[in-house]
Order: sequence, then C-alpha cells, then structure tokens
Amino acid sequence: MPICVERIAADIAAIARCTPAAGAGSDRPTFSPAWRQARDHCIAEAERAGCHWRIDAAGNVHIRPTAVEWSRRAWLSGSHIDSVPLGGDFDGVVGVVAALEVLRAAHEDGRSDLPFEAIVFAEEEGTTFGLGMLGSRGWAGTLDAAALGGLRNRDGLTWWQAGADYGADPGRLASERLVAADYAGFVEVHIEQGPAMWKHDRRVALVTAIAGRRQYAVTLRGVANHAGSTGMDDRHDALAGAAEVIAALECLPDLLGEHAVATVGRIAVEPNAVNVIPARADFTIDLRAPDDAALDVGDARIAELVAAAGLRRGLTHDVRRTESLPAVRLDAALADRVRRVAAGLGMTPLPEAVSGALHDAAILAPILPTVMLFVASRDGVSHNPAEFSRIEDVAAATRLLAAIVTTPV
Ligand SMILES: [Zn+2]
Repeated sequence: MPICVERIAADIAAIARCTPAAGAGSDRPTFSPAWRQARDHCIAEAERAGCHWRIDAAGNVHIRPTAVEWSRRAWLSGSHIDSVPLGGDFDGVVGVVAALEVLRAAHEDGRSDLPFEAIVFAEEEGTTFGLGMLGSRGWAGTLDAAALGGLRNRDGLTWWQAGADYGADPGRLASERLVAADYAGFVEVHIEQGPAMWKHDRRVALVTAIAGRRQYAVTLRGVANHAGSTGMDDRHDALAGAAEVIAALECLPDLLGEHAVATVGRIAVEPNAVNVIPARADFTIDLRAPDDAALDVGDARIAELVAAAGLRRGLTHDVRRTESLPAVRLDAALADRVRRVAAGLGMTPLPEAVSGALHDAAILAPILPTVMLFVASRDGVSHNPAEFSRIEDVAAATRLLAAIVTTPV
C-alpha cells in the first residue's frame, strides 16, 4: 500500500491550524472548539477514504473502512489530538495521522476490506480535567461513569457536561466498553518526547515497555538557629540534609538499570531566611523505571538515603509515597511480529526504546496485545511550540504500521 508523505504533511499542518493562534504551537483542550475542528478534519478525511465512523460513549472516534463492520475483528491504531496549553503540533497528532494514512492507502489500493480501525482518543494529556487518558480509561472500563462524572474542567463542568455536545454519554458507557476479542492488537505511533533517538539518529523505534512511576514527599526536620553563633559541628541543618539526599539521588538510576530516572522537582525550606539555619526541608522525588523490581530497589534505597542523612545530622525524617503506577510491559509476541515485519522492510536492526511518559497504550495494554512505535523528536523537545519531528520519519513509522496490519500472521 502506497504511504503518501505529502498527505501526512498536509494532515499535520491542517490539525496544527486548529488552535486559537495558529503558528504559535497547539492549544487544543478536549471538548473545545479547536479540538472539535481537529476531530472534524479527521472525520472528513475518513469519509473521503470510504470509511464509516462512530463516536463512543467516552468521546473517542472510531473509524473503519465501510466494508468492515463494527463486529469484525480488526487491528487498532491511533492516538490523541488534544494538546497541553502552548503545546506542540506533533504530540498525539502523528499517531492519529499515521492511522488515517493507512486507511487512505488501503482505500487507494483497492483494499476496502482491510480489517483496520483508526481511533482518536479524547483527553490524553490530563491538563483539562486533572487526570490523563480519560477517553481510553472510559472505553477500557478502568474509569466508570461515576468516576468520570466526578472530574471537572476549569469552567466547573464535569466530563459528561463538557462532553455532551461532543458525543460523550454516560448512559452508554458500560454497554459500549472495549471487548478484547474484537481486536487483533493495538499499535500506537507517537513521538518520543525525549532526546535519545534524535541524538543517535534513530528514526523509528519499537517501544517494549512504558516506565512505571513512583512519587514521594520527603520531610527532614532539624533545628532553626543563628547562622553566626552556631558552630558547624553544632547544627541540625535540614536543608543540608536534603542537599545530601538530592545529590545521592542523581546516582540512584545507575543502580536501577537502563532507562531509570530520578528527579527532585520541588523543594520548600523553613524558615527560608538568609541568616537562619533551616529547620525544615520538604521535597518531592519522582522515580521512573521500566520494571517494578527496579522501582522496588529504588524505593528501599530512597528510605536508606533519607535515614542516613537524618542520622548523620540529627534530623527527624519522614518519607511518604504519594503515587505508585506499575511499569507496563508491552506485548512480546506482537513486538516479535513488529521486528520481523521491520526486517522485511529493511528496517534492521529496528531500534528499541522504553517510554518514560504515559500514553493511551498503557491503558489498553492490560486488555489487548499492545506495542508502540516511536518517531524521533528534534532535540527531545515536547509540550512546547518548538516540538518537531521529520515528516519522513512519521511516514517510515506509518509504512511499518501498514505492514504490521497487512502481513499475515
Ligand atoms: Zn501524547
């Protein structure tokens, strides 16, 4: 099937114009006029390519060749078109466009019965309702109608109120839930959103895992005292203890293996005065790794580091885990299929990657055989108007996607 680079470029440009200030990045919150405009573009392209479509109760758009009934088992591929405020034009969009292009190429090639479904997920980013991947969670059944109804956007509207004009319907949610037997598997094409592939000139990569995440809130308490009259041996400096832990945390990922990362993103100090020894330091830790065993090791090490700094400096300490999301292993058999198909296209060896960010694929993976394909992001910049990926790399990922869903098992 002939994948057309120009059509892919035209789609990305057309969706990029669906924003209040075109040319300044994308600003497309879910259930906004700009988001609808982008969704309408996808639907119009689907109709031109001889497809039928439907919007499910959670607000996701499903598109299939007209000859392929909804009850027939099919491959699934897609991503999202919502963006963060001042976001880029490629995040999510490339996965939707890749799936649309497979449908167009099939139509052009006379394969109007290709068992393939494109999906446009509603609200992946999480900036509009305070929680991400809502369309996929609603469809997959990991959030029910009541849970979605408890989430509000900044205008105070619940998911169902905000989505009513866009096809979302709590009454149909339970009956329209994703049924695993209806799909052969899910392949999400997405930009990497990190610098590794661009740096090493890897154009397309197979994603084999989505990193798990643990977050912590740490408190160290010492004694506030005079910065002039308290000798260095007589101090219980909470901030110096925090600094010791933070410096050690930078080395922690080395212990946990490839793709592990640790970040201290926020710190608060009391009393936060130039001439007072800090009595209290509160900071956060965000730890990610592609498997749960590595996260467990990190968990234990964080407790040890904080306890050691506390003991050395006479500080009381407290480590609270505030979030724990398990790592998601993507499907091994489907990954093997992708490697074989890539070899057939001359894409050998196909680079492999781990996703540090969460995606709709993480929600579907426990239900359907799922993998992701990454496209390199220039300098790793994302969630930023400067976000950029090469159209020819998106086209290469689309060619691979088309081959995955058309090669006999
Ligand atoms: Zn995304």
